[in-house]
Amino acid sequence: MTYVITQSCCNDASCVEVCPVDCIHPGPDEPGFGAAEMLYVHPDECIDCGACEDACPVNAIFPDYEVPDAFAPYVDINAAFFEFTGEQEEPAPLPPPGPKITGNGPLKVAVVGAGPAGWYVAEELAATRRCDVEITVIDRLATPYGLVRYGVAPDHLDTKEIVSGFAKTARHRRVRTRYNVEIGRDVTHEELLGAHHAVVYTTGAGEGRSLGLPGEELSGSTSAAELVGWYNGHPDRAALTFPLAHERAVIIGNGNVALDLARLLLADEAALTASDLAPAALSALAASGIREVVVTARRGAEHAAFTSPELRALADAPGIDVVVDEADLAALPTEADTTERNAGTFAALQKADLLRDLAARPRTDAAKRLVLRFGLTPTEILGTESVAGVRFATGEEIEAGLVVRATGYRSAGVAGVPNEAGTGRFLHEAGRVIGAEATYTAGWAKRGPRGVIGTNRACAAETVRTLLDDYAAGSLADPAGEPLDDLLTERGVIIVDQTGWNTLDTHECESGKEIGRPRAKVTDREEQMRIAALARV
Ligand SMILES: Cc1cc2nc3c(=O)[nH]c(=O)nc-3n(C[C@H](O)[C@H](O)[C@H](O)COP(=O)(O)OP(=O)(O)OC[C@H]3O[C@@H](n4cnc5c(N)ncnc54)[C@H](O)[C@@H]3O)c2cc1C
Ligand code: SF4
Ligand code: SF4
Repeated sequence: MTYVITQSCCNDASCVEVCPVDCIHPGPDEPGFGAAEMLYVHPDECIDCGACEDACPVNAIFPDYEVPDAFAPYVDINAAFFEFTGEQEEPAPLPPPGPKITGNGPLKVAVVGAGPAGWYVAEELAATRRCDVEITVIDRLATPYGLVRYGVAPDHLDTKEIVSGFAKTARHRRVRTRYNVEIGRDVTHEELLGAHHAVVYTTGAGEGRSLGLPGEELSGSTSAAELVGWYNGHPDRAALTFPLAHERAVIIGNGNVALDLARLLLADEAALTASDLAPAALSALAASGIREVVVTARRGAEHAAFTSPELRALADAPGIDVVVDEADLAALPTEADTTERNAGTFAALQKADLLRDLAARPRTDAAKRLVLRFGLTPTEILGTESVAGVRFATGEEIEAGLVVRATGYRSAGVAGVPNEAGTGRFLHEAGRVIGAEATYTAGWAKRGPRGVIGTNRACAAETVRTLLDDYAAGSLADPAGEPLDDLLTERGVIIVDQTGWNTLDTHECESGKEIGRPRAKVTDREEQMRIAALARV
């Protein structure tokens, strides 16, 4: 018997750390890790101990006899990875932990952004044996977990389980939390730095990007950031409305976010109800007239940005035909012409095989269709007041009532901290922000909007190593400014801490249970604050 890794794997490598026989690959210190779509268990080396299943925060691992039917292909996919890549490459040696550091009291670090990167930074710092540390995790929202709450698709409930590990870090004696505090608005960067030895910005990349197309301002033309924020109940976006009556929607861009959007726009009411979709979005999507979603990409199928696990989930969704034109697939790679055998080429072949399989499938006359189109560069969003369709450089026009740009995210930046024009991300050297003293960054604010949740773990570890080495070298001055809580009290900022969040979390789960849903999200900021404040009564 062997264990098998399946679709919701988010590459956080918790399983690699606990496997006694080192049979899960590629590990974070192996060369192929960055290019891997997911991790895989070697079926001949696994000794069936079950440690990885217990360690996986997103329930992605099963013994082979318990793999759910929907994930059955992953038994072969895990084995195929090792047949394809052969002997695993040696991991790069880990850098030594560095000597102990003595300072005047604990090293005080503010971590700004309570998304995955913020929690991985806090976890890494809290675990250090080099010095005593006091970590304050801050978020502008009254709720933690960033895009896990407000980005990850509401039907990916297993993926959202990753927060159980973050909640554990929040309970660490070295960690405290301050939500509903926006740096750059409630407190300046300089003030925050004055209260700490160092500040780490893990503020993500939460803004949509414009393509500069004529017609982008029309009603029914939107960005993935807005639509995803709306259906996930982000308080800044929960009150948006979208025209959903037309039978067709077009998505520009074909990454995993585009496939999330397509799946949600085509989901039936039962699937929507079983998700933690925001209540208003549930009513709107259940009444939607959308029957076809066309996902368009500028480049050919061989450059498709989605990963095969995401497409596989749609390929097997009941009631949806996935339409791919075989004529678009001529340039896809085949095993025969693949010279390198690594995690990246394995992922490309998985995707190619799946696309060929979809193109060969007969149509089933299902009520709903996902159409994957390639080689289409949008030139104009058509319509007068509201969207009527999209025109492409080929001259083709596709009629639609909703057009979503899923072409990437940008960072909002923070006043007083230099960032890159256009992307808003912080330019850095091994996590140290260039041009700002005692300031660091990790996650999407550092790398741009790339990588799954677990990718932020190694990224955070690099940043923490740099920060601790700088502290050891004497480059971080002792805090000489006013303490953060004093500043916030003087300004009347109402803080939500972890206890306040736990109260809101419990409220959402319990009220969800009463109506047969996993969670009934509170999406109004004032209401979130009111419920969180019950913790203080
Ligand atoms: C639509 C979508 C779906 C995704 N689905 C998956 C998936 O299924 N599986 C997967 O593994 N990965 C998924 N990802 C990727 C994953 O969400 C990211 O890798 C991860 O969230 C990045 O973490 P982060 O901490 O850098 O940023 P974020 O998660 O964005 O967290 C940043 C935090 O900073 C806070 N913040 C910003 N500015 C300030 C400020 N000035 N002051 C205080 N706080 C501030 C924000 O409120 C936010 O909470 C998805 C991403 C998107 C966009
Ligand atoms: S069951 Fe045990 S041996 Fe097998 S992959 Fe998981 S941790 Fe490794
Ligand atoms: S999510 Fe993490 S623990 Fe689970 S299978 Fe993937 S890498 Fe392993």
